[in-house]
Amino acid sequence: MLKVTELKIPLNGGHTELVSAAARALKCREERIKSIAVTRKSVDSRDKEDIFFVCNAEVQVDGEESDILAKCSPTRVSIAEPFAYTPPPVRRGSPFRPVIAGFGPAGIFSALTLAQAGLRPVVLERGRDVDARAADVGRFWQKRELDENSNMQFGEGGAGTFSDGKLTTGIKDKLCRKVFLDLAANGAPEEILYSAKPHIGTDKLGNTVKSIRKKIISLGGEVRFESRLVKLIIANGAIHGITYADRHGREIDFETDALILAIGHSARDTVETLYAQGIKMIQKPFSVGARIEHPREMIDKAQYGSFAGHAALGAAEYKLACHPPHGRGAYTFCMCPGGTVVTASSEKGGLVVNGMSEYTRSRENSNSALLVGIDTQNFPDKHPLAGIRLQRELEQKAFAFGGGDYTAPAQLVGDFIKSIPSSKLGGVKPSCPTGVKMGSIRDVLPNNVTDIMADALGKMNRQLNGFAMPEAVLTAPETRSSSPVRILRDEFYQTEEVRGLFPCGEGAGYAGGIVSAAVDGIRCAFAVMEDDG
Ligand SMILES: Cc1cc2nc3c(=O)[nH]c(=O)nc-3n(C[C@H](O)[C@H](O)[C@H](O)COP(=O)(O)OP(=O)(O)OC[C@H]3O[C@@H](n4cnc5c(N)ncnc54)[C@H](O)[C@@H]3O)c2cc1C
Repeated sequence: MLKVTELKIPLNGGHTELVSAAARALKCREERIKSIAVTRKSVDSRDKEDIFFVCNAEVQVDGEESDILAKCSPTRVSIAEPFAYTPPPVRRGSPFRPVIAGFGPAGIFSALTLAQAGLRPVVLERGRDVDARAADVGRFWQKRELDENSNMQFGEGGAGTFSDGKLTTGIKDKLCRKVFLDLAANGAPEEILYSAKPHIGTDKLGNTVKSIRKKIISLGGEVRFESRLVKLIIANGAIHGITYADRHGREIDFETDALILAIGHSARDTVETLYAQGIKMIQKPFSVGARIEHPREMIDKAQYGSFAGHAALGAAEYKLACHPPHGRGAYTFCMCPGGTVVTASSEKGGLVVNGMSEYTRSRENSNSALLVGIDTQNFPDKHPLAGIRLQRELEQKAFAFGGGDYTAPAQLVGDFIKSIPSSKLGGVKPSCPTGVKMGSIRDVLPNNVTDIMADALGKMNRQLNGFAMPEAVLTAPETRSSSPVRILRDEFYQTEEVRGLFPCGEGAGYAGGIVSAAVDGIRCAFAVMEDDG
C-alpha cells in the first residue's frame, strides 16, 4: 500500500478527480490504481479566489510498487504504515475490580481499555445518562433550575458532550488514532478519520458515548450513574476502597486497590475533599475571558471570500492569537462555527459560559472564547486551590450582575473597546439560552484581563476582517478553559502519597480537550494493567 500526499482536489471534486490526481502524483496510468482511500483532507484557503482541498491518500496499485517509488519523491510517495494498537500485557493480578470516577472522555476511554483487557471496571458517574442529562440541561436553560450533579459539566460523556465536539488536539500521541477509530466505530461521522479539523457535533456525540457505554458493559464493565465519589479509603499509604454517594445520598463503601480519578475540571467539591485527605496538588495556570459572537455569514466571507457558503466547505473556522513581545497576549479558543453560546454552570449562584454546535453547524452566529492567560502569580494567594476560588469569585460576580437568575453579562465589542457600558443590542442577536443583560463585562472580569482583550481585538481584526465589528457581542464569563489545579502523579501515573490512585484527564491537570483527555485515560488504564501491586 502506498501513501501519497498533497493531492490537490477541487471543492466539487470526487472519486474521479482523486484517482487522476493520485495517478499524476504516482506518475502511473489511472488503470493501475486498484483502490484509493483518503487519509487526510484539509482546506487550502490562502488564496480566496482559488480554494481547494489538499488530500493524503493510501493507494493500492496493480503490479510492483518499487517502480513507482523509484521515480517519485519520497516526500510525496512512500510505503503506507497502517496503525497498530498494541496494549501492554496485563500484569495486574489483584482480585479487586478497578474503579473509575467520572465518565467523561478520560473515564470513558480508560473504562473501555480496561474492559477490553478483561478487568471488568466499575465506573462511578455523579451525573445521569446522556438522555436524562439533556433534559436536565434543557430544564436549566428554560426554567433556570440547576441540578448541581447533572448539567453542562457533569453527566454521561463529561464536559464536552454538549459541545461542538471538535476533535482537534495539540498532542502527538499515536493513541489518538485509537480514539478516532473507536469514536467512528461507535457512530461518530466517518470523516473524523481523515478530516484535518474533525468534529462530531453535540447531536451525534451523545449517541456515540451511549454506544461506547454499551460496549464497556458487554465486556463485563459496569457504569453506575448518580454515583458521586465522596472520599478515599486509605490504609498504609494505599487505596483500599472508596466511598460514594448514590442518588438518595446514601454513602456506600466499595473495596478496590485501583482508582482512576477522571473527574474533570469542575469537580471542586471532590477536589477539596481529596486535598483535605492529603492528596498533593499544585496550582496550574488557566485562562479567562468571554465568548465573542459574530454573524456566521460574516466569518464565512472573511475566511472563504466568494466561496463562502459552498456546501463542501460548511461553516468557516478561525484561530486567532496575538502575543505582544512583553506581557500577556490573548487568543481565541474552542471556536463553534454556526453554533451557540451556552450557559455551562455547575454550581448554584455561579455563572459560566461556553460554546457548542450541532454537526451541521448551521446556526445564525459563530462564536469562540476570547481568552487571556492567568498565571499562578495572579492567583489570590499561594494555596493550591486558590485558582478554584478565583474562578468561583468571577462566576458569582457574573451571576449577581445578571440579576441572580443565570442571565449573562454582555457588551457590544465597539462599546467594550471604548470602555462604555452597552445599553442595547445591534445587529447580532446573542444566542445565550439564559439570556443576556447588557452593560460592561469589565464589571465582572479582572482589569488585567479586559485590557488585554480590548487591545487584542484591534490586532485580531487585522488577522480576520470584521472580528472587531462594533455590533459583535461579548458574553461573559468563560472561566473553565482548563483546570486551575494539577494533582501530582509519578511516572507510573500514580500519586506517591497514595498507591493505587491514578489522577487522570483534564481535572487532574494532564489534558485539555476531548482527544487528549481520552488518550490520558488510555494511558492511565495501561498503568493499571501493568501494575502488579
Ligand atoms: C460546553 C463545552 C464545550 C466543549 N467543547 C469542546 C470541543 O469542542 N472539543 C474539545 O476537545 N473539548 C471541548 N471541551 C472541553 C472538553 O469537554 C474537556 O476537555 C474534556 O471533556 C475533559 O475530559 P475529562 O474526562 O478529563 O473530564 P470531563 O469531561 O469533565 O468529565 C469528568 C466527569 O467526571 C464526573 N465527576 C465529577 N466529579 C465526580 C465524582 N465526585 N464522582 C463521580 N463522577 C464525578 C463528571 O460528572 C464528568 O462527567 C468543551 C467543554 C465544555 C464544557
